[in-house]
Amino acid sequence: MTKILVTSALPYANGPIHFGHIAGAYLPADVFVRHHRMLGDDVVYICGTDEHGVAITIGAEQQGTTPAEHVAKYRVIIKDLFDKLHIEFDNFSRTTLPLHHDLARRFFEELKSNGHLFEQTEEQYFCDTCNRFLADRYLTGSCPHCGHPGARGDECTGCGKWLESVELTSPACKLCGGTPAKRSTKHWYFRLDAFSDKLRDWLQGQSDWKEHVRGYVLSMLDNGLKARPISRDLHWGVPVPGEAEGKVLYVWFDAPIGYISSTMEWAEKQGKPERWRDYWQDPACRIYHFIGKDNIPFHCAFWPAMLMGQSTPYTLPCNVPANEWLTLEGRQFSKSDGWYIDLTSFFERYSADSIRYCLAANAPESSDTEFSWKDFQLRNNSELANIYGNLVNRVLRFVVTHFDGRIPEAASLGPRDREVLAQVRELFEQTGRHYSAFELRRAAFAVMELGRVGNRYVDELAPWDTVKNDPPTCATTLNVSATILLYLACASWPLIPSAASKLLGFLGLGGEAWEGMHHRVHELQLAGRTLGPTEILFHKIEDDQIAMEIEALHLRRDALPLPAPTPSQTSSNAESPMEPTPVVQPPLPAQEASPPTSESLFPPLKEPISYEDFARLDLRAATVIAAERVPKTDRLLHLEVELGLERRHVVAGVAGTYAPEDLLGKRVILLANLEPRKLRGVVSHGMLLAAGEGDRIRLLTPDGEVANGTMVK
Ligand SMILES: [Zn+2]
Ligand SMILES: [Zn+2]
Repeated sequence: MTKILVTSALPYANGPIHFGHIAGAYLPADVFVRHHRMLGDDVVYICGTDEHGVAITIGAEQQGTTPAEHVAKYRVIIKDLFDKLHIEFDNFSRTTLPLHHDLARRFFEELKSNGHLFEQTEEQYFCDTCNRFLADRYLTGSCPHCGHPGARGDECTGCGKWLESVELTSPACKLCGGTPAKRSTKHWYFRLDAFSDKLRDWLQGQSDWKEHVRGYVLSMLDNGLKARPISRDLHWGVPVPGEAEGKVLYVWFDAPIGYISSTMEWAEKQGKPERWRDYWQDPACRIYHFIGKDNIPFHCAFWPAMLMGQSTPYTLPCNVPANEWLTLEGRQFSKSDGWYIDLTSFFERYSADSIRYCLAANAPESSDTEFSWKDFQLRNNSELANIYGNLVNRVLRFVVTHFDGRIPEAASLGPRDREVLAQVRELFEQTGRHYSAFELRRAAFAVMELGRVGNRYVDELAPWDTVKNDPPTCATTLNVSATILLYLACASWPLIPSAASKLLGFLGLGGEAWEGMHHRVHELQLAGRTLGPTEILFHKIEDDQIAMEIEALHLRRDALPLPAPTPSQTSSNAESPMEPTPVVQPPLPAQEASPPTSESLFPPLKEPISYEDFARLDLRAATVIAAERVPKTDRLLHLEVELGLERRHVVAGVAGTYAPEDLLGKRVILLANLEPRKLRGVVSHGMLLAAGEGDRIRLLTPDGEVANGTMVK
């Protein structure tokens, strides 16, 4: 049995989290964990709140409360969102536990006794009025690089540069507004630079990592690592061993140790307090850290180095599947900018499965992606409801009406039955491979493909006819259809656990455990089972509902003054130990750039044509069902599109804008009667409509639900 430990980035208990965080570090991990539970692996899923740091003490002071009350409040809000989304941790701990403090101090002491720490005296600003050192964000002033007046002690919000607080000009205390003076103080540093070679050797062995993750860290190593301060003058945090009160471990140092302390807490709750060692001290255990891309330097360099520097032997992570950003309607989620989704009302209207599926189908795996309300509606209505829900509904209703609610025996399987069963099993295995490889988008697509295959089978076998003239065939069709539903449930459980569990119950298998189901599914007998009570799995979302959501989003933002552009997305831990990473894209400007005014920027209009000329074009709605790069080109993708009446292979010059996986499931418009043409050895039968060129090309897509094959006029 494979032993697996999965962690998600510890959310920072300084505010609520949003769907952007969920899509990056939590949903992908939860899906991965569920898949391994289905495989029967020994998997433990660990998380907890990160409750230390300057941002928290400031947040507490601003809200007139104590840090302890502040983190307790947000911990509840954060955990509540995880519960609503069915993100199921085995343990959700917190870094303020004594258990965690003890372990963090032990980490410090082992690094120290192994010679990996040194002390250095440095100047820091001290406020006499407040009688304290002004760490990081307690200090504000002008940026030495760009002159921005609102720079913080750790980062300039104008130009995004990482700052040392002593670099600020005209510094002011954030608490009292007074002018601080420099005073010397001693801090502990971690010799990160001494681990460069070991880190490089270790990374070079990780050939199965996501390329953007490994490449980023290797380039960090090429640029040279520096020693990093690991202590702070603060009263909230893990006290530094051997130091007077008022010196704590820097939050970036103590937070990841929370993965281990949370596992220890889990083991204690199991009544086997030593069991954490089975995961953290067994080299055969596979440890996965799921994070957002802002946490890459930390989890792929600092944290492994901290582990390498211990005397206690710890297992290093085997993969760090970091994700890119998910934006909301093209902008970063931001509560302070009014650009967010109200999650309380969200869960009053929509289900966890709908949002899980939508986030998975759009997961920011290799590039930034966006959540849009229209897409959410489309995924829910035309995929979950029309394909998945429809198949479930039509098959079960038929069994109730014509077989007294009992799944019939298969008389004898015909070639079409055998074919569909083979297809369905292959799609089920395919989803498993995608889950193992952190490919949520492909997995979501394969699940829906399984639903499509099922619907086509039912259409073709037409049991409503055979029930009258060929009852044995009808019984076989329904038995096979029920088997398809069983595989659909199993393939989709990691993504949409609630619907999948209900579906299992509908099939009379409500008592079955999901653990090990990946293997057991092939032996489960359906014939003779009485269906459980059924219900509608997915409710359609109406257009006016979505229009209201979009309006609410804009109203919230318009109610606020125009925000100043910020240089980087708020990370889950607001106190990043590193320079803002260069992979972070600059945010969109607050307003769209005005369109070019000069007509000469556009090609001249073409000659007028008659309607008859236009009517000769056979334009159809279609859906991309497979996509890959055309080898040795950087512009061309080889696509397979579902046209309703048939499938087509098309070569499209859109690789400048789209990665192949971006296009899976995308609705497009195909010029279907263009003569076939051979491009780079592939026969392209039709052409996709698109606007723009090169890396600015954009495919045209129907604004709402349109069946494949529908004429475009
Ligand atoms: Zn600046
Ligand atoms: Zn002050």
